[in-house]
Amino acid sequence: MNVYESMELTKKYGVCPECGNDKVGGEPSQGALIIQDEVFTRSCKCGWKVVIDRRIKCCAYMTNKRKGKTTGIYEVSIHGQGHKYLPLNDLKELAGVKRVNQTAKIEDWLNTTEGRKWALEVKPASIY
Ligand SMILES: [Zn+2]
Repeated sequence: MNVYESMELTKKYGVCPECGNDKVGGEPSQGALIIQDEVFTRSCKCGWKVVIDRRIKCCAYMTNKRKGKTTGIYEVSIHGQGHKYLPLNDLKELAGVKRVNQTAKIEDWLNTTEGRKWALEVKPASIY
């Protein structure tokens, strides 16, 4: 996520809504604030925790066979941008998967720097 988003989340969840603690780290730990790519995690010593997951997610896919060739679309949801149809064959090749139902592997690739860039920039696939 970008710096602006991380700052907004840090501000929003900086203080624990359960016990008012605003500290992280320390020994013993007062709480944690972790921003890893598109996942923001903030937890508190009292047990409160919030996870904001803004990774690209797979929603659905559709394939069809035409003249012996399988084509299709892969629908994903991208935070702040709604849903997008990705061209399935390109995606499979780029993500290195043979089968469309290898969702975890496809999602992993889509959330790499390279995959994310591709998903955001590629021309949306058409269903028809
Ligand atoms: Zn707390």
